[in-house]
Amino acid sequence: MRLFLALMPPPALRRRLGELAEWAHAHCGGRRVPDESLHLTLAFLGEIPEAQAEALSTWVAGRDVPEGEWRPDAWGAFRRPGIVWVGSQTPDRALVSLQASLWHDLERQGITGRPSRFIPHVTLLRRARRLETAGLTPPDLVWPYRQVALVRSFTDQYRARYQTLARSPLT
Ligand code: ATP
Ligand code: MG
Repeated sequence: MRLFLALMPPPALRRRLGELAEWAHAHCGGRRVPDESLHLTLAFLGEIPEAQAEALSTWVAGRDVPEGEWRPDAWGAFRRPGIVWVGSQTPDRALVSLQASLWHDLERQGITGRPSRFIPHVTLLRRARRLETAGLTPPDLVWPYRQVALVRSFTDQYRARYQTLARSPLT
């Protein structure tokens, strides 16, 4: 099954991100990520056999994660897939170190595919027609986080859907 590790936004922030997605959609077109799918990916694991997915769920359920606060303050785009996102102007140190420590644990469990760089972002649009984000009002968001989620991604006929398999403990 296809798995990734992510932060899921608290409900109020999910709504605010949804409003930004709506607004970006009006400017850039493309496909707006639905509110329930908005997230921040910390690690994309790819296709994982079921037995290993169970072991990973157990690991996540026991994995303490330092709490933090992320402040997305910038718009950005990934040209090739036509993605428009919100993220931070300079990579957030706490998130970069969380990503590195999660990958350290994943590699010890035999997972490969650690990326050479990490740009913390929340995808709002896919296949956007316009990728010009320079004129947009910068976002002013605060994302308090305490938990990492292990998420399964299904592609149904029309779009990706996510299912949370496990969460790190609230300490
Ligand atoms: P779809 O691919 O069907 O458009 P999706 O990108 O939301 O939908 P997945 O491809 O399963 O669904 O990706 C799950 C998460 O992992 C997303 O945040 C995606 O951006 C990220 N991701 C997917 N592939 C990679 C990759 N090769 N490297 C890094 N992150 C990835
Ligand atoms: Mg994808």
